[in-house]
Amino acid sequence: MPTCSGCSGDFTPEELVRHEDGPLLLVHCPDCGLSLGSYRRR
Ligand SMILES: [Zn+2]
Repeated sequence: MPTCSGCSGDFTPEELVRHEDGPLLLVHCPDCGLSLGSYRRR
C-alpha cells in the first residue's frame, strides 16, 4: 500500500489520483496532491 511522504497518508491504489501524461501514468496523493510516482503505460 503506498504511503504519501507529504502527508503520511496510507492509500489503496484505488484511492490514488491518476493522471495520464503522454506515455506516462502519473499517480498523485488524493489528499495533498504530491506525486507518488509515474508508470509507463502499455
Ligand atoms: Zn499526501
